[in-house]
Amino acid sequence: MTALAYKECSMKRESIPPQVKLTLRAEVGFGCPVGGCGNPYLEYHHFDPPISVRAHNEPQGMIALCAQHHKKADGGAFTNEQLHALKADKAHAESVKGSLDWLRYELLAVVGGNYYHETPRVIVIDDVEVVSLKRDDEGYLRLSVNFLSLEPADRITIDRNSWRGIGNPIDLRCPPQGKELEVKYDNGDYLYLRFFELNSAEEAFKKYNHPAFLSEEFVHYPITALEVNLRIGGTTIELSPKGTTYGNGGFSGGFFSCCGGGINLSGTGLVWQQNPPDAAPVKPIVDDRRVIHVDFRK
Ligand SMILES: [Zn+2]
Repeated sequence: MTALAYKECSMKRESIPPQVKLTLRAEVGFGCPVGGCGNPYLEYHHFDPPISVRAHNEPQGMIALCAQHHKKADGGAFTNEQLHALKADKAHAESVKGSLDWLRYELLAVVGGNYYHETPRVIVIDDVEVVSLKRDDEGYLRLSVNFLSLEPADRITIDRNSWRGIGNPIDLRCPPQGKELEVKYDNGDYLYLRFFELNSAEEAFKKYNHPAFLSEEFVHYPITALEVNLRIGGTTIELSPKGTTYGNGGFSGGFFSCCGGGINLSGTGLVWQQNPPDAAPVKPIVDDRRVIHVDFRK
């Protein structure tokens, strides 16, 4: 082995284990701890010792920082003493906010094993628009998520791509590329969003195995897909990649294009403690025959 090769080997570091990342995110309250920041798109900085001294993934010598403050830390802006103090600082936990920066004129929402194109009211539960896509003044589609919960505690809510008030999650993960947002609460409430590009019919079909992607009528490639997975703790409602389940029922494989509404679960009998207060129930479009009405009381 040459001297150079040996040096490279000795500097090699394993990727950071997910549990270490979670520890680092949680200790700063899921927002960059530098004064006045609070950015939730976090990276992981090794400082005690730095990687150049020794390859390690020891959480006590690492800190979660936003990309901007990570760069500054790499440049020596903070002393080790300051970084150790920041590690214990949840100053921004109450005000962690972020935004989904993927602005597109066209989106394919993939929710609970169903596909929604030009379908603004994607998932409606008990007359609340839980997942919806609306156009802004510039024509971009923006995502809103009203989290329904059986718990009165705050849950993340996304209002036209801006998310606010995360409540008190046990994990919140959003890598700096902005492609993903995953948030978990101790009662089982769970939200996971992911954006990615589908460049061709073949690529979309390979990924989802739905014949509609190969249809000559669907000519929208490339298109950005937005996957939404949502679980409501204490209920059997789950919008997972495989399908939508509720009780013993479930349905998936629906391809909705240019519909007024997608899936509508009504009459669940569940007592929602949803937040925020402005997530007011909406009037269902009762005369739209394209809306699937599912009455689970039967
Ligand atoms: Zn920062």
